[in-house]
Amino acid sequence: MTQTKKSPKKFVVANWKMHGSLKQNQSLLDAYIKALSNLKHTQIVVCAPYPYLAQLQSMLGSTDIAWGAQNMAKNEIGPFTGEVSAEMLRDFGCEYVILGHSERATAYCESDENIAQKFMTAKKHGLTPILCVGETLIEREAGVMEMVVSKQLDTIIKLYGAEAFADAIISYEPIWAIGTGLAATPDQAKAMHKFIHNKIAALNVEAENRLKILYGGSVNPQNAVQLFEVENIDGGLVGKCSLDAQNFENICFAADSIH
Ligand code: PEP
Repeated sequence: MTQTKKSPKKFVVANWKMHGSLKQNQSLLDAYIKALSNLKHTQIVVCAPYPYLAQLQSMLGSTDIAWGAQNMAKNEIGPFTGEVSAEMLRDFGCEYVILGHSERATAYCESDENIAQKFMTAKKHGLTPILCVGETLIEREAGVMEMVVSKQLDTIIKLYGAEAFADAIISYEPIWAIGTGLAATPDQAKAMHKFIHNKIAALNVEAENRLKILYGGSVNPQNAVQLFEVENIDGGLVGKCSLDAQNFENICFAADSIH
């Protein structure tokens, strides 16, 4: 794992998406720092829009809370107007980067190949990729969710081998659960997490041992314990509820209570 300051049992990752301002972030981060500095079993990660990474570095640098970005370029340097490289993220102290989030994959037509290249570029530069995978509602209703997730993973496996998953994070995010208030049930999440673990383990046991799998999609203070208690769920990626300090803190406390 890239330099997380402890070896956590659970991760809770805040995905702020395109929300925030210097002022709003300051009060949210102040609240996070006050409430979450003494967690014993959980690594908190805050993923903010690019312009606020300097603010995260300045406010979180002396805390146990880590931070990261929500995307990055697959290329390392060059004439790619509007792109941000892995090294630029490192310059601002990022340790993590969310890749392949469905909101990007859909709106910006990101291919699995593109995401796979970003994944390896992140690793090469010492960033822990948080790779989002998941199926649409139509795919779940058709019973092909494992096939869909498998294909998303296969692109990385084909290009770089299953060992690429060592020290990486996958976030299983059923697209139908993101921002809808309708989370996957613990059983649905458990089945998919088990499927992913088995798939990687069949190819490389060592990589599977060093892989974390989070659940994302309408995690809230009411369902967090039930989800995080599930074997093989190593924590959560949290969108909406990370924008409310009290909700986010309660989700983090839920994660920290399970050890
Ligand atoms: C996300 O977008 O990664 C996410 C999990 O969002 P929400 O928690 O709002 O469903």
